[in-house]
Amino acid sequence: MHGIERRELPGFVGGTLDRADAVRNDPALLAERFASPRARRLVMEGLDATEQDGLLVTEMIPASGQVDDHVLLGIDEADRAIFARLVKDVPHGAAFSPRSWSLANQVPADQLALYGAARSLVDWHARHGFCAACGAETLPFKAGWARRCTRCESEHFPRVDPVVIMLAEHEGRVLLGRQPRFPPRRYSALAGFVEPGETIEEAVARELNEEAGVTATAVRYVVSQPWPFASSLMIACMADVTDDALTLDLTELEDAIWVDAAGVGAAIADDPDAPFMAPPRVAIAWHLLRHWLDARS
Ligand SMILES: [Zn+2]
Repeated sequence: MHGIERRELPGFVGGTLDRADAVRNDPALLAERFASPRARRLVMEGLDATEQDGLLVTEMIPASGQVDDHVLLGIDEADRAIFARLVKDVPHGAAFSPRSWSLANQVPADQLALYGAARSLVDWHARHGFCAACGAETLPFKAGWARRCTRCESEHFPRVDPVVIMLAEHEGRVLLGRQPRFPPRRYSALAGFVEPGETIEEAVARELNEEAGVTATAVRYVVSQPWPFASSLMIACMADVTDDALTLDLTELEDAIWVDAAGVGAAIADDPDAPFMAPPRVAIAWHLLRHWLDARS
């Protein structure tokens, strides 16, 4: 886990299901799993999961259920197939969902990871009913892990959008930025989407230069996190930079600050006298800050 202990994982990390590729690719095996009285599906309302007594709620699949309307999330430790139902009318998955966010403090890590995968997949299917190549209808296959066009047979796969999120480090301090939408006093790591034709390291260097005007000389990968709003993969990195002079892109950041280890330590301990309010623990930025502190001690 690259220096981050499993007992305090970022949110949506730590899934334990067997993703069961052999079942996905065998319609007979899939039908058998789906028809089994042991099969379960997540109870969801739109893109939100349902929680009771600290666990995700699942239900038996009704006799009227159609396998093509479900995605196979995987096989659990009790050898039960776990599905999510595909529905068309859902809110946009990138939108903030207080209910989904609060699940992070209610259910175990493996269940939150399971829900995150379901959320991203249900959202993707709801938005990919038509072929990007020819405009005809698409239908799910591979147990809901792909769609195929009914006219040109193009295959479409669930997208994952890579995002770099990074701490620039200079002489014992790290760089944190503040977006206008943040709550008061909140500062966090800078972040941005990886673009076509770019490595992770190049994306980190470009974003640091665009947003803060600093020049990265070395970039190190730390840890990653699926982020199901709608389907990002957060790739957390540390970057050495040449100096601490800042030129902010004010369309992205309203402020940025350099913070030393004492300040970061106070913030992640929720000290009200800390120089800033840390990002929430569900976010990988919190874990990146702790990783930086741990690596120094
Ligand atoms: Zn097509």
